[in-house]
Amino acid sequence: MSIEISQIGKQFGAFSALDNINLTIPSGELTALLGPSGSGKTTLLRIIAGLENPDRGSINFFGEDTTYKPIKDRGVGFVFQHYALFKHKTVFENVAFGLRVRPSKNRPSKSEITDKVNHLLSMVQLQSMAKRYPSELSGGQKQRVALARALAVEPKVLLLDEPFGALDAKVRQELRRWLRFLHDEIHVTSVFVTHDQEEALEVSDKIVILNKGKIEQIGTPEEVYDNPANPFVYGFLGNVNLFHARFERGIVRPNGKENKRGVEFFVRPHDVTIDFDNEDGKGLEATIATYRILGNRVRVELKTLIGSQEIEADIEKKRWNEIKAQNRERLFIHFKQAKIYDENNEWSDYVI
Ligand code: ATP
Repeated sequence: MSIEISQIGKQFGAFSALDNINLTIPSGELTALLGPSGSGKTTLLRIIAGLENPDRGSINFFGEDTTYKPIKDRGVGFVFQHYALFKHKTVFENVAFGLRVRPSKNRPSKSEITDKVNHLLSMVQLQSMAKRYPSELSGGQKQRVALARALAVEPKVLLLDEPFGALDAKVRQELRRWLRFLHDEIHVTSVFVTHDQEEALEVSDKIVILNKGKIEQIGTPEEVYDNPANPFVYGFLGNVNLFHARFERGIVRPNGKENKRGVEFFVRPHDVTIDFDNEDGKGLEATIATYRILGNRVRVELKTLIGSQEIEADIEKKRWNEIKAQNRERLFIHFKQAKIYDENNEWSDYVI
């Protein structure tokens, strides 16, 4: 059982926000909708929620057609970027709200509500703050209350729209772990929207990568990172150097940027090594343009002597200290892995 999304299309005037979206969201999994701004992530989430109607296609929740079912009958829980907690209710009452407003025939007893809310608050580790009001909480704590509140009504599907978008980097990281932990405890089918690659890679079971209203790739974090479907996915999931070159008797030689002939290599900065010698003859001569120290990593901008191409290397601080100590004008760059995307839409790997 799962959520089946078939041939969904959505126009805003002449603009196509979603184009023929086909997607299965497996039951009990945490699926991320990942893509750049304007790619259609929120529109798709809103259609799943029932906040927006599609122009074409259908949505099936666990075997039942829900395409035009009212939002209140879909059994979805929400967490948005902005907390939207009830300001005048305590943490406890915020979490209890969805249960208290149920019609009396489905409403749990007072003691059942108390037990349930306490259990949820202990899962998000906010028991000690049950009596506080939202204004007395940090941003991260508010989002944990929002999560507990959404889960209190036992939704069939939990939808999260950039839930950590408004928080600072440290708190975001902590909350990602929370979300993963809660999901492993509860296994509610969850869909969350993010434009943050790292967040999607760290938290989700499946990632759906959207671009300009279309799906570029669906896969586990490992699949999309290790086997990106195309250059868009490759570039979106991490920093990448585009290196323009040609083969001369099997040796790769850099082209000038304006030279359109030859091939384009995709190289991740952490696959670039900086060496003092060129024993294998494959190295590219380069000079250091600039560098930035980021904790124990150093991002070094190099320029190839032939073609003046800029190549970014991401190396360990220890290695950087060795390079600096030698104080050489010219160095050699090697690529541990470089990829070419050919006209048959296939990747091939090279070591340079
Ligand atoms: P972001 O990360 O910036 O929130 P997104 O991937 O969630 O982006 P959507 O909010 O789904 O993107 O929007 C997709 C496209 O549809 C955008 O170009 C947006 O401007 C457009 N759009 C969304 N809602 C409407 C609307 N109600 N009317 C007109 N255009 C809209």
